[in-house]
Amino acid sequence: MKASEIILKKQNGEKLEYKEIEYMVNSYVKGRISDKTMSEFIWLIYHNGLSYEETYFLTDVMVKSGEIVDLSELGKPVVDKHSTGGVGDKVTLIVSAITAAAGVCVPKMSGRGLGLTGGTVDKLESITGYKLNLTRKQFVEALDTVGCAVISQSEKIAVADKKIYALRNEIGAVDSIPLIASSIMSKKIASGSDSIVIDLKVGKGAFMKTIKDATTLAKTMVKIGKFYNKKVVCTLSDMNIPLGRNIGNSLEVKEAIDFFNGKYDKRLYDLSIYISALMISTAKRISFKKAKDLATNLVQNGHAKNKFYAWIKNQGGDIKKLKDKAKKYIVTSPVTGYINNIDAMKLAQLVFDLGAGRVKKTDKIDYASGVVLNHQLGEKVTKGDILGVIYYNKKVENMENIFLESFKIEKKKKRVKNIIIKTIK
Ligand code: URA
Repeated sequence: MKASEIILKKQNGEKLEYKEIEYMVNSYVKGRISDKTMSEFIWLIYHNGLSYEETYFLTDVMVKSGEIVDLSELGKPVVDKHSTGGVGDKVTLIVSAITAAAGVCVPKMSGRGLGLTGGTVDKLESITGYKLNLTRKQFVEALDTVGCAVISQSEKIAVADKKIYALRNEIGAVDSIPLIASSIMSKKIASGSDSIVIDLKVGKGAFMKTIKDATTLAKTMVKIGKFYNKKVVCTLSDMNIPLGRNIGNSLEVKEAIDFFNGKYDKRLYDLSIYISALMISTAKRISFKKAKDLATNLVQNGHAKNKFYAWIKNQGGDIKKLKDKAKKYIVTSPVTGYINNIDAMKLAQLVFDLGAGRVKKTDKIDYASGVVLNHQLGEKVTKGDILGVIYYNKKVENMENIFLESFKIEKKKKRVKNIIIKTIK
């Protein structure tokens, strides 16, 4: 087989066979074909797309390029959750505890944040002592005893995806539905869960900007799941405005604690209960209504909160010792009116510039910096009210103005849309 012949075949619009995709991917991983040749192949996929079957072939080859986790020994329903990344997205911290409290195992491998969206691993790392690297034995033990464990993504899983994703980033070819679908699904399939719930963010603060593209991506991931006989459920949720009140690593852990103490923002609550209910109903094969009632009860009766503390303690974290040392800068509203928009991207950029995000995987971050929004979409503020607080260790030029510019405050209140757009199964 020759790379040039496979590239030519794709160029002519012909469907590729499993062994051809396998040849390209494995040869690239082994260094037998160059970045230049692989880029040519990636660009062809980017422009011409892949059929569902070809997308599955690519996923499967990437799954088999690394370790495949087998969790069948747990003997309990197992569900994984994935978010495509949003601003202020601390949902994993909340839903893992709720779902585990319902008797479902949640084994999660999470990534570090890159660019403007934060990663769950960084949020957890803001808890002093929290161990992100468990041995396989410790991981299985945590799942067996506590029910959930969140660790950093293993370097040994979907090895080909890592190399191809890095190349896609370098050449600017991230933004392709079959490439994104196979990249996400290769990691999820290799992680060993029976069911997978995906929170696919849509809007200005997400990498999927339109409902149409997000729907196509969701359908592709659900179809890939079917090839493996795994239940994949994909919810499209709005990410035009930040999720919840806090953005920044330790600040988001604090908001998760607030959530379990009954202090939550409606959109965050709605999405967390919805995703938990999907995870529970998919894994336990019970109705969504039953699962939603169960999730709601587990939050109200404190069982989910106890599970959250048990999980963090089990992984060595001291929840009372958050890396949260920062100065505060209070921002007040210059006008009276209703908050009709909060620009997620503007705030994400500010939080990034404050030091909470990274450009390269190896960059150090400031776990304490970020912003807290005192008011949410649709709420009324009076001139002089505290609009929010900037937590900083290094000031950003113009930070007060950037914060203020992200709020649209108007005389007439606009309708606040539901955070959940639709679910594809
Ligand atoms: N996240 C992934 O894991 N892969 C992509 O291609 C895009 C987002």
